[in-house]
Amino acid sequence: MFSIAQGLLSFPVSCGNLRDMSDTRLVAMFSIATDARLKAQAPYSNFLVGAAVESHAGGIYRGCNVERCSHTQSTHAEQNAIDTMITNEGSVAIKRLVLVGAPLGIKVPIENHDSVHHPAVLCPCNHQLVWPCGHCRQIIWENCFGDSDFELEFSNFIEGCNDVISFSKNFQNKEASALRIEYKNSEGFIANYYPVFFVKKDDKTVYIVETKGREEEDDKLKFERLRLWCEDVNNRQNRIAYKALYIKQEEWDKYKPKNFDEAVKLFEKQY
Ligand SMILES: [Zn+2]
Repeated sequence: MFSIAQGLLSFPVSCGNLRDMSDTRLVAMFSIATDARLKAQAPYSNFLVGAAVESHAGGIYRGCNVERCSHTQSTHAEQNAIDTMITNEGSVAIKRLVLVGAPLGIKVPIENHDSVHHPAVLCPCNHQLVWPCGHCRQIIWENCFGDSDFELEFSNFIEGCNDVISFSKNFQNKEASALRIEYKNSEGFIANYYPVFFVKKDDKTVYIVETKGREEEDDKLKFERLRLWCEDVNNRQNRIAYKALYIKQEEWDKYKPKNFDEAVKLFEKQY
């Protein structure tokens, strides 16, 4: 019953199955959140929540839920942890966040949470998760900074699109199992390319989106390689159709699409 949020609105990206204990920092964050949960003051909901948040500078801060009889004055664990981060480091970005929650009396195991049951959100591996509430998602969002202003603008746009199921950023770090595609760069060497976003349009269609502010020499090569990658994957299975979409900020600013369908129409012909 915990989830791990990394960076830009991608929670929960993982059920955080800690049977892989190699990420010692993540394991520490889980312990910190589990411990913080036991400090919760939750006489009304009897649902104890603990959070651990890691800043980009490497600080780890914890928080628990604190309920008060005027419910508006209650503090959620995520907010508590993030506010502690800000108190210590100022207004900085969150790198990742671990959330642990369960009713009073239930012990959250560190290595195997298969046996813990609570009606919550199911992750792709069918583990049951606690999920940040809307209020906390807003708080998390405000301390998640994209790699560029345009990425943030696009995330904000997608968040408000009713014609997509979900989206996620492709993170270039090992914990998030990023999509990495090899391509031949303009100097003839094999290099790595990480597309920026995944957008799940419906149960059968996923767009892989490249958002570009300032264009660089290899961008066209990367996107051609992505298109080929989609073609290859689509030829090998028919469960999900992968499509590549290249969005230039300049064009985006000119046309300002109102929903994702409109964005697809505008940008699918690019390159
Ligand atoms: Zn909350």
